[in-house]
Amino acid sequence: MLPIVHHPDYQAPLRPGHSFPMSKYGYLRDALSRRGLLVPGRYLAPAPATAAQVALAHDAGYVARVLDGRLAPEEVRRIGLPASEAVARRARLSASGTLLAAWLALEHGIAANSAGGSHHAGPDGGAGYCVFNDVAVAIRNLRAQGFAGRILVIDADVHQGDGTARIFGGDASVFCLSVHAAKNFPARKACSDLDVALPDRTGDGDYLAALGASMAQALAASAPALVFYNAGVDVWEGDRLGRLAVSMAGLRARERLVIDAVRAAGVPLVIVIGGGYDSDPMRLAERHAMVFEEAARAAA
Ligand SMILES: [Zn+2]
Repeated sequence: MLPIVHHPDYQAPLRPGHSFPMSKYGYLRDALSRRGLLVPGRYLAPAPATAAQVALAHDAGYVARVLDGRLAPEEVRRIGLPASEAVARRARLSASGTLLAAWLALEHGIAANSAGGSHHAGPDGGAGYCVFNDVAVAIRNLRAQGFAGRILVIDADVHQGDGTARIFGGDASVFCLSVHAAKNFPARKACSDLDVALPDRTGDGDYLAALGASMAQALAASAPALVFYNAGVDVWEGDRLGRLAVSMAGLRARERLVIDAVRAAGVPLVIVIGGGYDSDPMRLAERHAMVFEEAARAAA
């Protein structure tokens, strides 16, 4: 069975009409429950990451300002989420959830966090709905806890994984691959180990070919002992913030492509959900559920 990490507080209250689809975390839990993948009361829940744990990936002053509710207005504006205690707690839970999923992947071969993928948070602060970079916090804590193997981050969210690229820019043991829409946020891109910038309205065929080729190149170049996969569904053709034209069938094919390639390479895989934007959070949660279905199939 696929180990799934979840916490009810992944969903923090926001004012009605906020542009971030926070309720998708609750709807995703329900969608996974309906599929029998996440049994209420029996899932693995993380404890909030400590300030010291988060500060392995981010400036300690920034971490303290998040935890103490002292972020500057400019920092809050860049993040796009309120500087509330619930949002800070959610960021800590999401980071430790990805760390827990990583250890579960190392033990079981594959595991998933039902949140995470906050890839715009960089060394000095958050941005683009991302407070703490959960994958970066997980990697730095794996290191602190003794895991020395090489790591590959496959970021297929439609936005570039700029924060992750900046955090690991000087770290040769972590290879960052980002496959994203060229004209999407962030306007100023970072330099990943391998960036694939796709033109607007790229469809299934070209998208899957570009992802498959770059993933093969990244796997060969990095020879990883662990892979993180940011499975953002904002590549879908109807996404509010995406610029690509990947169909539902194309999205499912992507999840299979990534999972099967990493499994074929014999490398443990940890999945985080990444972005996805829709005025209908139930429909959005169904798209996020696909990667869990495909991971469960692979784990069986
Ligand atoms: Zn995104």
